[in-house]
Amino acid sequence: MNHSVVVARFSFPIDANIAKANLDSVGIPSYIADEHTVNMQWLYSDALGGVRLFVPEQFLEEAREVLSLDFSDDVDLICDVEPNRCPQCKSQNVFTYTKGKRSAFFVFFFLGLPTFFYKHGLKCTDCNHFWKQ
Ligand SMILES: [Zn+2]
Repeated sequence: MNHSVVVARFSFPIDANIAKANLDSVGIPSYIADEHTVNMQWLYSDALGGVRLFVPEQFLEEAREVLSLDFSDDVDLICDVEPNRCPQCKSQNVFTYTKGKRSAFFVFFFLGLPTFFYKHGLKCTDCNHFWKQ
């Protein structure tokens, strides 16, 4: 009988989904709990304990190793090519800019999707200014 344990907690479902994708890629089964609750009330996600990622107990150590891998080097490389800053408020919180690990994962995630952000411009998350590159 498989007993599942929490391998990691996340404040945002997107982080949990990225972590799950990483585990999927190496063949470790996992599932996410509380995702829908947090999607509806993400402001309270920390109060609820965040989004929990479960793995079968026998995969716990391996899963922790996978999740401890750091993709920051790759992301830094991308950001050297595409340094972005809001021209209106000078905020660095634009879709393709990264600062810190959480943002790095966001960039990593978005770069894995069809790159419509690049084709149509960039958007600032602080002032909602939208511009063409
Ligand atoms: Zn801005």
